[in-house]
Amino acid sequence: MRVLFAAFEIYPYVKTGGLGDVAAALPPALKEQGVDVRFFLPGVPELLEVLGDRETVVEFPVYFGAKARILKGTLPTGLIAYILDAPDFYHRKGLYVDAQGLDWPDNHLRFAAFCRAAADLQDFVSWKPDIIHGNDWHCGLIPAYLLTKSAPQPASVLTIHNIAYQGLFPTHVQHQIGLPAFLYHMEGAEFYGKVGYLKAGLAFADRITTVSPTYAREIQQGEQGCGLDGFLRTRSARICGILNGIDTDIWNPESDQDIERNYDAQNLEKREANKTALLKLFNIPSQKDKPLFAVVSRLNLQKGFDLLLDALPALLDQGANFILLGSGDRDLEEGFIALADDYPGQVGIKIGYDEALSHKIQAGADAIVMPSRSEPCGLVQMYAMRYGALPLVRNTGGLADTVEDGVIGFVFEEEDAEELSKAMMRAMATYKNKKLWREMQKEAMRQSFTWNDSARRYKELYEELTGKEEEDEDRLSRLA
Ligand code: ADP
Repeated sequence: MRVLFAAFEIYPYVKTGGLGDVAAALPPALKEQGVDVRFFLPGVPELLEVLGDRETVVEFPVYFGAKARILKGTLPTGLIAYILDAPDFYHRKGLYVDAQGLDWPDNHLRFAAFCRAAADLQDFVSWKPDIIHGNDWHCGLIPAYLLTKSAPQPASVLTIHNIAYQGLFPTHVQHQIGLPAFLYHMEGAEFYGKVGYLKAGLAFADRITTVSPTYAREIQQGEQGCGLDGFLRTRSARICGILNGIDTDIWNPESDQDIERNYDAQNLEKREANKTALLKLFNIPSQKDKPLFAVVSRLNLQKGFDLLLDALPALLDQGANFILLGSGDRDLEEGFIALADDYPGQVGIKIGYDEALSHKIQAGADAIVMPSRSEPCGLVQMYAMRYGALPLVRNTGGLADTVEDGVIGFVFEEEDAEELSKAMMRAMATYKNKKLWREMQKEAMRQSFTWNDSARRYKELYEELTGKEEEDEDRLSRLA
């Protein structure tokens, strides 16, 4: 079984969120399951630097307006990667947006080139994939481009990590990106008069997966589908949710080099040293009896941080401490900075992205707060449980699938600051009961979120797809 795994992010070289973590961890887990998996990745400098045994597969003097070539090489993990090296497209500070936070004006070309090259790779190499597995809107055009080629073609899988990002572009780009008219219609790549890259993927992929079972249901019902719920319902039979795992080597409190003191579930008292060090980093005087709530996240409304800003003062007035590492919407950043000014010595805010600090927070905080309006899977709550920090989450998406209220964390229902506040008060009351809190920590640390189970599910899905002749016929009849 040969699978080309296409992703625009891969930790630690290029990552803005959970997609990078998944792309780094799932393919090695698939390899362990016996799948012959290779990467298709963008030629960002950080990746090119580490690519070993590199050779040029094919060169294009002009490709979607830029000079490009496909390289083959080996990543430090030993997996083979094909890389679309197009410096004009991918050597930029800012993967998707510029310094002002605006989409790069040529994003339609940057991502179309990536998808076209992934779909065409088989024409240039002897290794022929049975399946191309793409991720998010960045890879949405791959299934569409496959349909422009003569049959038989690899089957396609598209995983939605976040349906809120859809890659929408003005209608005229269809000519620039070589999207034929027979793919551009309401049942295809067109979305309310625009070219929808994600929509194309959802329309033409043989299977659509998303990163938790609950999110797979939610995106087919109302608002969570971000306008695509109705369309997804028509594709329901092809959709399934497979929960992400986490990399338990990188996220391991027993061996983590970024934290003050290593520990495991048997000696949780050692964890205290991490809390003390963390509070010091945030200039909060150490108060062992006070619960420390924390956030590590992109800051936006989807993640529900406006609710948290409303809920926090009552909690802080009761003496809790709060720290945050994150960046994103300016209003939210400013709101949290203002909160720190209002509660000096009690609240600490770091605006930015800091991988090492995120580990320190997981190891030192008592509770990790994720008040998400929607959360496709969420990795942070799983890291939290592995590190004995209890997740406090809203009952949505992957949070609903991983956190059990009162057993390994705290769950609230409505998108409402009052509800969140009540859950935080509940956590504060529980924290006073040291024995109960410790039991919950141990139970949280017992949860298994390894990639093996998920990789097995993906492998089953691939196997289902490789007897795909009938599907080709079905697809052609849909297009006719
Ligand atoms: P999403 O993909 O929606 O951003 P996830 O919970 O799935 O959310 O994954 C977020 C990933 O990004 C986690 O690995 C988390 O630790 C990391 N992360 C988010 N914000 C920061 C930050 N400011 N600094 C360091 N790591 C961060």
